[in-house]
Amino acid sequence: MAQNVSVSDEIADATPVCSAKGCRTAAIWVLAWNNPKLHTPERRKTWLACDEHREHLSQFLGVRGFLKDVVPLAEWESAADR
Ligand SMILES: [Zn+2]
Repeated sequence: MAQNVSVSDEIADATPVCSAKGCRTAAIWVLAWNNPKLHTPERRKTWLACDEHREHLSQFLGVRGFLKDVVPLAEWESAADR
């Protein structure tokens, strides 16, 4: 079904928000993770986190042994540009 894209949607797309359930806060951290059962070792999945949820989300991934890296979003994006 076609939907009109509103201005607020465009802004939401441009501003990465936290991956925590129900959180709409702008993300400032990138959590890079890998599930060895599903992904090749070089593969990186990413979650975004605000300051408040960074610890919660990294613990979630950490206890499963999935967490590889936590980097500031600005740093992650500049690394991706290279
Ligand atoms: Zn959050």
